[in-house]
Amino acid sequence: MADVASLKARVANAIDAHRDEILAIGEDIRVHPELGFKEFRTAEIVDTHFSKLNIPHETGIAITGVKGVLNGAASNATIAYLGELDSVLVRNHPDADPETGAAHACGHNAQIANLIALAYGLVESGVMAELDGNIALMAVPAEEYVEVEYRLGLRKAGILEFLGGKPEMIRAGAFDDVDMTFMTHQSCRKEGGILSVGGPSNGCIVKQIQYEGVAAHAGGSPHSGVNALAAAMLALQAIDANRPTFQDDDHIRVHPIITKGGELVNVIPDDVRIETYVRGASVDAIQKAAVKVDRCLKAGALAMGATLHLTTLPGYLPRIVSDGFLDVYRRNAWELVGESNWWDSGFGAGSTDMGDVSHIMPAIEAQARGCSGTGHGADYAVCDPEAAYITPAKAAAMTLIDLLVDGAASAKSVISGYKPAMDKESYLEFMRGLAQDIEWRGENA
Ligand SMILES: [Zn+2]
Ligand SMILES: [Zn+2]
Repeated sequence: MADVASLKARVANAIDAHRDEILAIGEDIRVHPELGFKEFRTAEIVDTHFSKLNIPHETGIAITGVKGVLNGAASNATIAYLGELDSVLVRNHPDADPETGAAHACGHNAQIANLIALAYGLVESGVMAELDGNIALMAVPAEEYVEVEYRLGLRKAGILEFLGGKPEMIRAGAFDDVDMTFMTHQSCRKEGGILSVGGPSNGCIVKQIQYEGVAAHAGGSPHSGVNALAAAMLALQAIDANRPTFQDDDHIRVHPIITKGGELVNVIPDDVRIETYVRGASVDAIQKAAVKVDRCLKAGALAMGATLHLTTLPGYLPRIVSDGFLDVYRRNAWELVGESNWWDSGFGAGSTDMGDVSHIMPAIEAQARGCSGTGHGADYAVCDPEAAYITPAKAAAMTLIDLLVDGAASAKSVISGYKPAMDKESYLEFMRGLAQDIEWRGENA
């Protein structure tokens, strides 16, 4: 039997030895935010540290992804630990990039600090020689599903197929040799606590909508026009009218925005654009709600005699929590921060591409409360650097040690206790099947 306590202490000491450097990495990335699939500077930081540690690694996966692998004494399982590279866009955030408006208002800067801290801990402690499995350290691009037009351009150019980082990394084969995956996301909950594991969450599909009408003088001859804005407004009202038909357990969220409402006030709008997600707790629930949303979108076109151009894109799958994995993590979190600093996370109504990973292998998304303010808001800040940058790496290392010692028995038991909802091939097929472009003419109906 391995002396687990001393292995854990060795990794924690190695992480502490680099404490100042790790805090500096987290803060440096915080003030240099980059949007998804453009995280070149952030990826280079990972690349530099992996090189310094002689970790064999690959860069440029799904544009900016980095993957390093540490081999154990045996290869009984491979566990990936992820850090997300991207920021969000909050122009009025005090640390927003003045040019792009990007800001780390979701705490992903801490994830990259955690990933690098873990790399230092595992390598410099020499623990890999005592483990019977491998550890893949992965910096992944584009968790936030934003700048859809830009990413569609990348897709058209053949650079990407999927618009999110992990789906694209899955497609590229980066998870092919991985059996289990976890990561730590920052939480800014107000109630206190230090560590948790996120519960099940909503998945989503993405809809891009254009109403095409006919322009005409808004005062002189509105009768010769077809008002695309009126079609859009009717569609939004119809979606609202359907809300009571969504069932509570399905957690449906439909939150459209009008991204283009018209050109000039004295012209009947002939080109109006809407974007929306349709979120829900299961694939089935999302698809049922999407049928209603599509019906509502057609209703707007039908009422006004406009043409509807509707593009549906795969978003993210709901997050499934591996209970076996969660148990091992929770035990270590209690050991590290005390049971009183643990909280149980409930259902998460947001969406993440960790959901996609969780459909094909056991996965958990731990949470660390190192940040405060509003997620994706201008007041989002790192309030506890230790909890943001250091603690998650220690908790991850301890969990990995428990999973991979003694023939990787614990990892094997988590893997055998998990029934994958999909394999990689059926996942890719499912995602591809979601993409759809339709044109629907209201005047012909
Ligand atoms: Zn976010
Ligand atoms: Zn996030």
